[in-house]
Amino acid sequence: MRRILCVLLLALSPAAAPAATELTVYTSRIEDLIKPVFDRYTRETGTPIRFITDKEGPLLQRLQAEGASTPADLLITVDAGNLWQAARLGVLQPVDSATLKANIPAHLRDPDNRWFGLSIRARTIVYSSARVKPAELSTYEALSTPAWNKRVCMRTSKKVYNQSLVGMMLAELGADRTEQIVRGWVGNFAAAPFASDNEVIEAIAAGRCDVGLVNTYYYGRMLRQKPDLPVKLFWPNQAGAKNHLGGVHVNVSGAGITTHTKNRDAAVKFLEWLSSSEAQHLFANLDLEFPVSPEVKLDPITAAWGPFKQDGINLAEAGKRQADAVRLMDRVGWR
Ligand code: FE
Repeated sequence: MRRILCVLLLALSPAAAPAATELTVYTSRIEDLIKPVFDRYTRETGTPIRFITDKEGPLLQRLQAEGASTPADLLITVDAGNLWQAARLGVLQPVDSATLKANIPAHLRDPDNRWFGLSIRARTIVYSSARVKPAELSTYEALSTPAWNKRVCMRTSKKVYNQSLVGMMLAELGADRTEQIVRGWVGNFAAAPFASDNEVIEAIAAGRCDVGLVNTYYYGRMLRQKPDLPVKLFWPNQAGAKNHLGGVHVNVSGAGITTHTKNRDAAVKFLEWLSSSEAQHLFANLDLEFPVSPEVKLDPITAAWGPFKQDGINLAEAGKRQADAVRLMDRVGWR
């Protein structure tokens, strides 16, 4: 009986082909940066994508509260610290995909395959082109030395970007050396910590300090508005010095499949597409981030900064040390 009804319904419906599964995405990326990516996928495959945007905290709470009844198939968020938290809370499931492994370098995805980096965000040094010569700069660690007394501006330690950076330092440099460096930075602060990376760049431009650490896309966006901004970008830790981070600290925007998705196959297909060159180009360049694949073409603004060596340690190592990083920053008075 049921079969007859189905056949009847199909015969009556104008489009005989079964509709593609609709996917639901929870995302902390703002609509402007993510909707064009979804629209492209829908155009190419017919798969409709519903999405809900919110901050990471509320999205994670929601996924936990909804449990098995969640409508979400994927979580797309920024910073490995948040992705690591999502995995730890059990709201993401492992995906064993040769495509994802081929498209995404190993240090930018979960060793247990629960989250995958889709674009790189580099957290690097910016400096006053009026008061600093690039030859004076070398490493993140060197900003803790007396030469930078009352010259450093930083964002608040409440932001996950700084927690991930310090978490990575803990992983690579150990607790004692990390604390010594972070204490040195705080001792060199020219002003109380700022609420945003943009304010750090503005403070340098305004002469309140000479150097700071920011994610490059904030700098890129500001440069788009003010091409003559008296602030420049520097790639630190390129020489491979001992007891120093092994390259520029990178983080990701990334995604994972929810534990309770009812559309696993369609969700995996979409995630694999997100890792393709075409999608990475869109996903990374819309926000002036870097594609995870070195083969994808860069936006002219990011390309102008030249190539850089990334720190190649797996981002999960920073996630594991997030709580320790928060305690350390608290201890040394980084508000
Ligand atoms: Fe950001």
